[in-house]
Amino acid sequence: MNELERILQQYWGYSHFRPLQEDIIRSVLDGKDTLALLPTGGGKSVCFQVPALARPGVCLVISPLIALMKDQVENLRKRNISAEAVYTGMHATEVSLILDKAVRGEVKFLYLSPERLKNKRMREYIQAMDTCLLAVDEAHCISQWGYDFRPPYLEIAEIRPLLPKNVPVLALTATATPEVAQDIQEKLKFREPCLFQKSFVRENLTYVVQKEENKEQRLLRVIAKVPGSGIVYVRNRKRTREVAEMLQRHRIPSDFYHAGLSLKERERKQNLWTQGYIRVIVATNAFGMGIDKPDVRFVVHLDLPDTLEAYFQEAGRGGRDGKQAYALLLYEEADLLQLERNFELSFPPLQKIKEIYDALGHYYRLPNGNGAGCTFPYNNAEFARQSGNKPIVTYNALRFLERAGLFLLNDFANASKLYFPCHRDDLYRFQVANEVYDPLIKLLLRSYPGLFTQFVRIDEEEISRRSGIPMDTLLAMLQKLHEAGILIYEAQSELPRLTWLEDRMEPRYLRLSGEVYEERKQAAKKRLEAVRHYVTSLSPCRSKQLVAYFGEKDAVRCGKCDICLKRNKTQLSEWEFDQLLGIVKPLLKAEALSMEELAEKTDIPEAKLLKIVEWLLDNDKLQRDERKKLRWV
Ligand code: ADP
Ligand code: MG
Repeated sequence: MNELERILQQYWGYSHFRPLQEDIIRSVLDGKDTLALLPTGGGKSVCFQVPALARPGVCLVISPLIALMKDQVENLRKRNISAEAVYTGMHATEVSLILDKAVRGEVKFLYLSPERLKNKRMREYIQAMDTCLLAVDEAHCISQWGYDFRPPYLEIAEIRPLLPKNVPVLALTATATPEVAQDIQEKLKFREPCLFQKSFVRENLTYVVQKEENKEQRLLRVIAKVPGSGIVYVRNRKRTREVAEMLQRHRIPSDFYHAGLSLKERERKQNLWTQGYIRVIVATNAFGMGIDKPDVRFVVHLDLPDTLEAYFQEAGRGGRDGKQAYALLLYEEADLLQLERNFELSFPPLQKIKEIYDALGHYYRLPNGNGAGCTFPYNNAEFARQSGNKPIVTYNALRFLERAGLFLLNDFANASKLYFPCHRDDLYRFQVANEVYDPLIKLLLRSYPGLFTQFVRIDEEEISRRSGIPMDTLLAMLQKLHEAGILIYEAQSELPRLTWLEDRMEPRYLRLSGEVYEERKQAAKKRLEAVRHYVTSLSPCRSKQLVAYFGEKDAVRCGKCDICLKRNKTQLSEWEFDQLLGIVKPLLKAEALSMEELAEKTDIPEAKLLKIVEWLLDNDKLQRDERKKLRWV
């Protein structure tokens, strides 16, 4: 066992690296800038966590979503590794506490959301840290051409000069087309190109696409046939509940999940499903973050996904344990039209976007020239109503403005947190002088260790139950203590938060490039067409199509997707197939022939000849040239 395997064993309990993990880790330890392309669930985290643990110093990790960061931090802490996260919307005191700790060398993994990197004080802190590695998770977010471009990712390259000399960057992603992979390396200022790419072929996953009028019946049949647990993806929140209720009526333990549920509800449902008490979870695409359930046997899409990137990730949650799993996509003609309509609504005209920007400033009563750094709760439904727009239009206008770097939308709820900034002696004096608060303060200190050194997540309901203080009184007391400066109380917010990154300006000063808008629209159109092509195509093999989209051109056919099964139905036995191939192949390799010429040169019955030629065309072995002759490729 080498040093790296020892670390893997010690902290994770795994005895072997998966393919490519060790190569990636060694590349990083050699000081090389490295891009790692591994499928979702392939084990990317270990690729930066192991080398960082093998060296002294802090590992900076850039990650786009607060939910992802929190999840990974919790995971590391469970393994007794010190990890912290700093993101927008956090209390300034909490940020300083954490960054001081990192400078003192008491944090091994420091997760940062990218828009924090612009901040001058943050840069000073980074400069003061002994950094050993810069890891960029979900690195496709740096590329305009990626399906999830986030402008703050472009700041990452600018902190590289602040790090000790020769600190490498490790970029990781599960979704990059070849042009995106190239772009990532350029945008992160790789000293030399360096890419490790694992094949995206998932051998134990069977992809099936079916045009189906009665999706619910079909779903029931699948669930009856495939044992084990599964995920059903639908497009909107209302549908998650409807479909879950339909399944329950058929005595299938199921539940629904979407971003509109409270944080607690979501955690509860996810846990019940992970532990197997709920067999099927019906969800919007909000379900996915941090899911690490190995034995998912089926993933069914009842609506079309927006991109193949998203589809591949969602379907890829099946069969992480390496055992057989199914990815089924059901669609009907109307879904294709719906996809088109949503696409149009996702690109409101530039003028409309400017109007919505102005309405938003108005909504928050922000004067022009103010607002940078301010965070507000954001309720899309309410804002849409007040500004007289469709929710999908305001949402997408905001996304567009966000991508122009004007603000940031965190679509994740924050749990309540508490911190005691005061000295113990001061707290004691306060307790003596204000007896009514004494039992509550004592209970808090007893229930939540560490309140003097860090912000701690609390549960008001639990406190209320244990103290016997009614909920509304408790909240008022916490607020009073907050105002008195005894503690800092951050009440939970279930709404997404919107942070203005720049001051509000008059809409005519907005720099929204028509060119960028058009480019983005075209790129989105291309992704939509890829989805349409995927579901409507008759060849080649589904698995081949998907991995080809991510640049893998030479994959072999899976033999079990809906397309391959049809191909298998050419009803040629393997022996017959090889016989025919043995005759046809040398003839066509020697010269291009028309169908008639080929028939003349062999005495194979025409029906069989057609089957083999069709199969060869489907599998890209043959091409028809301009004279309609068959040419071997
Ligand atoms: P990704 O970020 O690529 O989607 P993760 O890093 O979250 O994937 O890893 C997915 C799962 O695989 C985690 O449960 C992780 O602990 C596990 N894993 C990673 N490396 C190994 C390994 N060498 N052996 C066994 N399990 C591993
Ligand atoms: Mg990951």
